[in-house]
Amino acid sequence: MEIIRVDKLNKSFGDHHVLNDISFTVNKGDVVAIIGSSGSGKSTLLRCLIDLEKADSGDVFMEGKPLIKSGVYPSMQEIREIIMRMGMVFQHFNLFPHLTVRQNLELAPKVVKKEEPLQMNKRCETYLEKVGLLERIDAMPSTLSGGEKQRVAIARALMMNPDILLFDEPTSALDPELTGEVLNVMQSLANEHMTMVVVTHEMNFARKVANKILFMDAGKILEEGTPEDIFNNPREQRTQAFLSTVL
Ligand code: ADP
Ligand code: MG
Repeated sequence: MEIIRVDKLNKSFGDHHVLNDISFTVNKGDVVAIIGSSGSGKSTLLRCLIDLEKADSGDVFMEGKPLIKSGVYPSMQEIREIIMRMGMVFQHFNLFPHLTVRQNLELAPKVVKKEEPLQMNKRCETYLEKVGLLERIDAMPSTLSGGEKQRVAIARALMMNPDILLFDEPTSALDPELTGEVLNVMQSLANEHMTMVVVTHEMNFARKVANKILFMDAGKILEEGTPEDIFNNPREQRTQAFLSTVL
């Protein structure tokens, strides 16, 4: 089953063509890793998928519903319903510093779905337990390590019961000794068949956990394939050059 289909998506900032005819699909249960050098358009692509940026032309379908079709966006209400089905985890966690861990998790369901605390308590505990942080439920974000903050951000994304999780370099802001705990949580989500799109520089993670790799270069998907294809038999010279700098 198709979760996301992107077809010939284009986006420019001024005369800088940042996304150039991007096309790919994400099926249910896929873990898609997007790799490529800095500035190749990876974050802009994810941001277009959750409507943090508006694309200029092309299609994005989420579970068959258009987020943008032939360059045209539907109503605000339709957009909101579509992006509610997606969770996003950012490089810099983006936790609300004045709210406890529990309040961070409960904010979106409360505001967006008008859920009551009683409905949320159990899910909140379940997801914090899943990321190994149940005992920090009443902590303030400032008392958490970077790895713990990112695990809270993942639990928070899960609170909306998304059909897909998008990650933008979730471990790039972490000290090396803290990346493992975040990658382990992501690995366990993959084991539970969570559909995920992960922009990452963690090539071992991409190789081991993803079933599909997209290599982006200068706004294009230059090469797409299984980890075996991309890491062992890259076709494009640019892919080989990129991999030789990161492996
Ligand atoms: P990546 O995530 O692969 O490093 P980005 O998507 O962040 O790449 O950026 C792609 C290109 O688009 C970069 O050249 C960047 O400077 C440019 N860019 C990103 N966001 C904006 C913006 N809001 N305004 C102008 N240029 C931008
Ligand atoms: Mg980026």
